[in-house]
Amino acid sequence: MRKNFITKAICSFPVILIIGYFVPAIAVILALFRYVVYGKTHFYRTPIVLLVAGLLLLLPRGLELAMANFNFNLGIPYWSEIIAHPLYPKFTDYGKFLAIFAIILLVVTYVLRNFIEGLSNKFSQLMNGYYQDRAKRDDEIEKEVKLESKIKEIEAEQKTPHAVKCPHCGKTNHITGTTGRCKACRSAIEYRAKK
Ligand SMILES: [Zn+2]
Repeated sequence: MRKNFITKAICSFPVILIIGYFVPAIAVILALFRYVVYGKTHFYRTPIVLLVAGLLLLLPRGLELAMANFNFNLGIPYWSEIIAHPLYPKFTDYGKFLAIFAIILLVVTYVLRNFIEGLSNKFSQLMNGYYQDRAKRDDEIEKEVKLESKIKEIEAEQKTPHAVKCPHCGKTNHITGTTGRCKACRSAIEYRAKK
């Protein structure tokens, strides 16, 4: 539980965003690591949160460009100080990096996810087919076994002696199989199984 918490903290968004500002490569690795930690449940969350963070960082730059191009002023307090601040271009660059990385991640995630899902669907279809074939074969084997035991039953039935009373002279004969001849009067006798 504790180990899990530490792992999740390491690849949490605040950590990724802060480390990424200084060492982008580590942020990329941590963002990818999220897929290992969270698996299928957070497929699109990672790129979308990074994209939103990137766009937020790019917002001042976007406003600056819009105001310069369309000649308007929103009257934001300390605006000139904000865009003149030495950190402003750094944050803008970082925002660009985050947005581009997030879009790439989004596309790759989308493509890979569909590819993996397609593969796993194909695989489960194959497996289903295999199990259906097996079930069919098992059914056939079961039927054969049943037929065989039925045949054996019939054979056993034919070998068992039956007591049959002769309809002509009334003598009780023991015959194997279903037909025979009376020992006393030689007339044909037949065994009928009771139903
Ligand atoms: Zn008889």
